[in-house]
This record gives sequence, structure tokens and C-alpha cells, in this order.
Amino acid sequence: MGSRIYLDYSATTPVDPQVREAMRPYFEGAFGNPSAAHALGREAKATLEQARETVAGLLGTADKDEVVFASSGTEADNLALAGTAFAYQERGRHIITSAVEHAAVLETCTALERGGFSVTYLPVNGHGVLDLEQLRRAIRPDTILVSLMHANNEVGVLFPLADIGAITKERGVLFHTDAVQSFGKVPLDVRHCKIDLLSLSAHKIYGPKGVAALYVRRGVRLQSLLRGGGQERGRRAGTENVPAIVGLAEAARLMFLEMPGEGERMGKLRDRFEAGVLARIEGVRVNAQKGPRLSHTSNLTFEGVEAQTLVVALDLEGIAVSAGSACHVGSLQPSHVLRAMGLSPEHVEGSLRFSLGRFTREEDIDSVLAILPHLVARVRENAPAAR
Ligand code: PLP
Repeated sequence: MGSRIYLDYSATTPVDPQVREAMRPYFEGAFGNPSAAHALGREAKATLEQARETVAGLLGTADKDEVVFASSGTEADNLALAGTAFAYQERGRHIITSAVEHAAVLETCTALERGGFSVTYLPVNGHGVLDLEQLRRAIRPDTILVSLMHANNEVGVLFPLADIGAITKERGVLFHTDAVQSFGKVPLDVRHCKIDLLSLSAHKIYGPKGVAALYVRRGVRLQSLLRGGGQERGRRAGTENVPAIVGLAEAARLMFLEMPGEGERMGKLRDRFEAGVLARIEGVRVNAQKGPRLSHTSNLTFEGVEAQTLVVALDLEGIAVSAGSACHVGSLQPSHVLRAMGLSPEHVEGSLRFSLGRFTREEDIDSVLAILPHLVARVRENAPAAR
């Protein structure tokens, strides 16, 4: 990455060289279609099943048949919500989610509402934390699914999956979690947390873009959204992207190998960054500081600053960060997450996400700390007087 400083790992990550090497044979000689009966096909099939086994093993006690490969975290979320909604609609047409989910969940909910389903959007408090009593009260006789994310992509807050799973299990409703941001970064066991469906995506964990997986507990019915050749046991039609799936499995394996040390290292860097910013710049607040959160995410509000202007100023200095969530095309919409946390429109507009990763070093943090106060001062000076 040269002299550029990349602090946008929650948006995406570079592919790890080891992942790239693991994928290479499947672009070259071993290019078979896993559905083909000949030797090349059988080899691809064996590779695919090996990758499935690896991913299942990293979800705690999942079995490989419970892993469905898909083209993106977005598709995995769509499949989890719409796939179960259509499969269980005779039982009920009510879904519960939260106001701070990723657009892949929220937009699917909106589409389902247009199709006659009803959706309850649970609020969060000022720290981004859910009230589980509200979840309990929201469950109705016609509720079929609760979809609540693990780690928030904008502020990093972690929802308590085991507590949510205990409630959904007791009330007999399905539980989906979008773990795209947390998978590989914090320990997770689908059985322990009583999770029925879980989405994960490779490009957040140093794997390739455009490949993901959905864990679907055995016995959970799912209506496939793609029609075709019946791949993935009829749950997701389309020839599997074998090289990318191999990359996903290898990326996940590496994440779990480094998990304990990396979490701690990143937490220390993040704390150094936040303490440094607070010491050097007035009028800054750390969002979701009190909630349990991912150790690599820091969401900061700079009073009197328009975040987009600061993003551009940082970019000119070779520092990549995001205002809100870069997963949203253009990401110019005011953050629905920060709004749900009760931030004023001015504070929402002045908020930036800094997200650290495998290649972030103390020197990078210190370089950003050295330049940020000047950039913030300049942006503030040039801001309209009304601010
Ligand atoms: N869910 C969350 C929480 C995310 O952060 C993202 C990231 O973009 C997605 C879903 C979508 O994943 P993908 O980019 O693989 O479609």
C-alpha cells in the first residue's frame, strides 16, 4: 500500500498473499465445474466440500451441509430474510429487526413489507445498545424471524447473540444474524448462541470480493431466491465460484489463527488513536464508546466539521477513511445508525469511521494523529458560519 495509510478495513480489506496463492490453482489447471461427473469436476467438488468443512468448523459446531455459498454478504442477507419469509409465511408474516442493520437487511425488509409482511424495527440507545426487554415484547404469535446483526459496520457495537438466541429459542422463532463484520474477529459458536442463520463475507477478512456464505441450521427451510441448476442442495442455484470459495475458506482459517493476538493488538492501537485524538482536538466525541464493540472500529464526531470534507482532506494526505458506511454506494446519505443512536443531524454529518486492520501499525496511527488536528482546524475554519 506504499506510503498511503488505509484506515477503512470495515469497508473492505486487501487479499492476503496466502489467500491469493491458495486460490491460484483453481483459476488454472483445476478449473472443473463441481457438478460435472468427470475427474476435473470431482476434483472441484472435493475442493468445494473441503472449503465448506473449513467454514463450518470455524462457526463452532456447525456441519458442512449447513453452509451455503453465495455471491456476497448482501446476497446471504437477502437469502436469509426473504428465503425464510417465503418458506414460513403460512406460519406468520411478522419479522423483527433493528433500526441499525446494514442496508442488505433493511432493504430486504422494506421489500417484504411491500409484499404484505410486517416488520418491527427495534431501537437502540445512545450507545448503540439494544434493549432485550423490547425484543421480548415485540415477539408476537405470528413472528417468524428475528434478524439482528452481530457487529455494527459503522460503530462496531456488538449485539449479545447468546442472549438473543436464548429468547428466540424459548419463543420458537428463527434467529438470523448478519456477522459480516464480526466473523473471524471475535469468537462465535452458532449452536451455543442458538443461531439459525448467519451471514459472513470474504472481503472483510482479507479474502476476495464477491463471495460469502450463509449458515443455515439443519431443519431450517429456505426458499431459494435464484432458480436454476439446484446447486447448494437447492438453496442457491448457480455454478459455485470455486477459486473464490477456496479464498474465503483460507481467509477465514487465517483469521482464526491470528484472532486472539490481533484483537488485543488492534484494541491497543484503537485506544491509542482515540486517546490521541481526544487529547489533541477539542469538540470530539467517540460514538458507542460504552457499548461492547469491535476492537478495530472507531467512530468519531467532530463538531463543526462536515465529514465528507474531512474525508477528502485526509485522502489528499494519503489517508483513507469513511464517513458513515462505505458499503452504501457513494455513502453520502446521513448515517441511519447514528441517527438511531440519537445524534443530532449536525453531529451525524460530522462523523467519520476509522477502521484498523492487519496491516495497521503504531506509526500509521501516530502519522494520522500528527496531521489530523491541522486538517480538522482547517475544515472548521472554512465551514459555513452557521456551524
Ligand atoms: N452486512 C454488513 C454488516 C456489512 O458491513 C456489509 C458490508 O458491506 C454487508 C452486509 C454486505 O456484504 P457484501 O459487501 O459482501 O455484499
